[in-house]
Amino acid sequence: MRRFDGNTLLVATHNAGKLEEIADLISEFGISVIGAAEKGLPEPEETGTTFIENARLKAHAAASATGLPALADDSGIEIDALDGAPGVYTADWAETPNGRDFVMAMTRSHLALEAIAAPMPRTARFCCTFVLAWPDGHDEVFEGRMEGEIVWPMRGNQGHGYDPIFQPSGYDITFGEMGRYEKNKISHRGDAFGKLKAVFGDG
Ligand code: IMP
Repeated sequence: MRRFDGNTLLVATHNAGKLEEIADLISEFGISVIGAAEKGLPEPEETGTTFIENARLKAHAAASATGLPALADDSGIEIDALDGAPGVYTADWAETPNGRDFVMAMTRSHLALEAIAAPMPRTARFCCTFVLAWPDGHDEVFEGRMEGEIVWPMRGNQGHGYDPIFQPSGYDITFGEMGRYEKNKISHRGDAFGKLKAVFGDG
């Protein structure tokens, strides 16, 4: 695996929360982060049909625009009975003219499962993929996931996105009912983060 040996990592996201999360993760390696907005980079269209394709697209676009190694991520939820939907369209299912509405997106997921009388448990997984791309075209891919099931009604008001309808395997509470620390230990993003650390010198 190719290692990242710089002092500053370009993170190909316009999301301040994600940038902060990644900054926290890599501060232990003495690396600081700079975001896509600070570099004046446009947000590329996510035209891929897999999490890897979308993360690659964002990471390579940023690396070739700046000449610097760039990290990007893509994430979402796959519901088995819906053939993996919403998948890469997880955020799109929440889009409205007035911003994202995740209650609407969760309701849509539930109604789609009801419409086909999907049997219980309605298995699903959260996925998170990180891609670190270099300007010479090389990249390294790190994938994380957390298995679980879709429950209804929504439970809990912690977390974000689809958390209130996702009950991770081995638990009787949803991600929405789980504290952030506990969730991060088992989440798809925690899993992918753990693997990504190797690129900065761990292991
Ligand atoms: P993206 O990775 O920014 O493209 O966002 C993917 C979408 O997946 C987000 O808008 C969230 O709705 C959803 N998502 C990703 N991770 C989580 C999670 O940990 N909990 C709830 N929803 C998530």
